[in-house]
Amino acid sequence: MAGLIDTHAHLDFDRFDEDRDEVIQRAFDGGLEAIVTVGTNFKSWEAVWEIVQGDPRIFPIMGYHPCELNEVDETNWPELVAWLKEHRPVAIGEIGLDYYWDTVPHEKQYEYFRKQIHLAQEMELPIAIHCRDAYPDCLRMIREECPNGVRGVMHCFSSDRNHAEEAVELGLHISFGGPLTYKKNDDLREAAASAPLDRLLIETDSPFLAPQAFRGKRNEPAHVRYTAEKLAELRGMDFNELAQATTENAKRLFQLGAN
Ligand SMILES: [Zn+2]
Ligand SMILES: [Zn+2]
Repeated sequence: MAGLIDTHAHLDFDRFDEDRDEVIQRAFDGGLEAIVTVGTNFKSWEAVWEIVQGDPRIFPIMGYHPCELNEVDETNWPELVAWLKEHRPVAIGEIGLDYYWDTVPHEKQYEYFRKQIHLAQEMELPIAIHCRDAYPDCLRMIREECPNGVRGVMHCFSSDRNHAEEAVELGLHISFGGPLTYKKNDDLREAAASAPLDRLLIETDSPFLAPQAFRGKRNEPAHVRYTAEKLAELRGMDFNELAQATTENAKRLFQLGAN
């Protein structure tokens, strides 16, 4: 039986400071095969690096989240790039656009989304995209910046079938998290039911977005199972078959175990 992979968690966040080791242990005891943990700014990259050193089943993604860009400018960007090249994460991310929190001017969000897409291309790495309330701009930018297609994932996909189809056409994987289990999200479930099986990923975005059964509580990687169960149900698939497909997709996209 294939273990699940949580392809997007934030194990470095302080909400795990009290019991991080137990959280990780629960995930692997609960049938996970790997966890991908995402560093969102320089301090977070360092913390993520520390965490992945402790366990070969945990893999790092690093990049500047669109809401964290106020601490980046052209003076420190070269050092940050050098650091990423030295530590070589499995993807550059999460990068993208966030119009929901809207903490950073859009021009700056565009600039660093572009820069990080090109960095990923130069490093021959996939990208993990964060997109909140910004689907048309986000997809347009990918189309413009990556005329030959792109390797990557729309993490915690939160739009409808049309946007999912557009993302797939650009070469992207679509990753679903806890919101797939929320009562109101019928559009999201339609997108999940119709996306090609070989582009599907699952994630938790822990500590955020706990599935319906734990809504309002801290989320953790072990809960990725609830999203997998929902996805299997929506697609009329056997759970193990779904688990195996999403795990293979994650390994292929992030080349897990190949580094
Ligand atoms: Zn995100
Ligand atoms: Zn995230």
